[in-house]
Amino acid sequence: MSFKVAIVGRPNVGKSTLFNRLVGRRIALVDDTPGVTRDRRVHAARLQDLRFDVIDTAGLEAAAAPTLEGRMRQQTEMAIDEADVVLFMVDARSGIIPDDQTFAELVRRKGKPVILVSNKTEGRGAEAGVFDAYSLGLGEPVAISAEHGLGMPDLRDAIADIMGDKIAEEEEEERVRPSNNEPLQGDDIDPEAEEPEYDSGKPLSIAIVGRPNVGKSTLINALLREERMLTGPEAGITRDSIAVDWTWRDRPIRLADTAGMRRKARVQEKLEKLSVGETLRAIRFAEVVVVVFDATQAFDKQDLQIADLIIREGRAPVIAFNKWDIVENPQEMLAELREKLERLLPQVKGMRFVTISAETGRGLDRMMETVVETHKVWNRRVSTGRLNRWLERATQMHPPPAVSGRRLKVKYITQIKTRPPGFVLSCSRPEVMPQSYVRYLINGLREAFDIYGVPIRMLLRTSD
Ligand code: GDP
Ligand code: GDP
Repeated sequence: MSFKVAIVGRPNVGKSTLFNRLVGRRIALVDDTPGVTRDRRVHAARLQDLRFDVIDTAGLEAAAAPTLEGRMRQQTEMAIDEADVVLFMVDARSGIIPDDQTFAELVRRKGKPVILVSNKTEGRGAEAGVFDAYSLGLGEPVAISAEHGLGMPDLRDAIADIMGDKIAEEEEEERVRPSNNEPLQGDDIDPEAEEPEYDSGKPLSIAIVGRPNVGKSTLINALLREERMLTGPEAGITRDSIAVDWTWRDRPIRLADTAGMRRKARVQEKLEKLSVGETLRAIRFAEVVVVVFDATQAFDKQDLQIADLIIREGRAPVIAFNKWDIVENPQEMLAELREKLERLLPQVKGMRFVTISAETGRGLDRMMETVVETHKVWNRRVSTGRLNRWLERATQMHPPPAVSGRRLKVKYITQIKTRPPGFVLSCSRPEVMPQSYVRYLINGLREAFDIYGVPIRMLLRTSD
């Protein structure tokens, strides 16, 4: 299972330069012999400690489309389809031009993980260009100079994050529950655990998603109506705004896609089907995603699909059971919903949920408290020392199994990322480590360090 990277962008931004740097040798990029069909090739690449493959998109002239633009497009699309991550490159010196927008749109439509890379940032005067790149809406740009080899540690971290996510996703798809899951508790729980990266001054982005008619628009209107500190007249919302800023108990909050929903509520336009594309966009925008369920209706496939999407995207989920005002047996219903959640969404243990009424406003404060709490857990960082003290006990309690006669060894664990928490586990023969054991360790981490209700990524690396 190799991890594939595609470098995409309009001509001249520096793709080949980066390609050559990663692959580490000169490769002829142009073959102008007419009619020669070159396959896009895949080359082993290396960036510091990371190994992966880079897809060579150089054989542009081989593609069948009649125009250069068409050929580039086709070629780019094929590379993206094959890739696990897309490095979308722009040129910080020239700034963003319409061609960049065209390629960005193409990349976005494919829905693959994207790292925005702003190249040619050596020397002075590139800041404006890097800043400009934000306008593409592909997140924070990683500033590099492919020619001078600058910014490579940042690029390495960005790729490592997604590699970690990919491994964890594959593992989550297996959905194996731990066989022996005894709690490990005690002195590892430190109420004053350091959370150095947590910054409560930055806006916390939330999205509110759910299938049609569960009450999303009502909820958003209720949240914004109650809030007196909206920025600007009529919340500064224009028809096209994709987000609205407000504060909740002095905490800056950014809410996704609000304009669309308010508009919809106003004109009483009823959507019958869930738009997965729109939901995905909102999820990617957000840190915490509130999934609204209609408490008066049974869970349906779409509800679970949305929750699953949030987990795969590594966001922090909060489930809001809405229309609680018309639920007949609240006590019984609560027990039933809790049981169902645990059974139907076992990937994330301890998922947080709240009961609300968007119509009466009941439970909205509790919902927001839960959002902030889940966001904190999503940002949790545990020191390497504490992790390894825990690992030693966890492996003593349940040693890793033997595979073909040899006992697997688990040596070391470290946290490489937050949002969501991601760990690297060094072990012998990671390729044969059973998922059930990895799951045992993940659940152990949750209990020992109180990381409930958010996805956890675990990347296995060979220890020698
Ligand atoms: P591609 O068409 O996207 O593959 O771009 P190339 O890799 O061929 O680069 C286009 C031009 O930009 C070449 O003249 C490179 O030397 C130059 N270039 C690439 N990376 C950098 C960089 O980091 N800084 C500067 N100043 N120029 C660069
Ligand atoms: P959306 O499609 O998810 O945006 O759902 P809407 O906000 O348009 O709500 C769908 C229907 O559910 C409307 O008729 C709302 O009045 C109703 N509704 C929304 N929230 C509540 C609630 O908390 N209690 C009750 N009883 N009805 C609600």
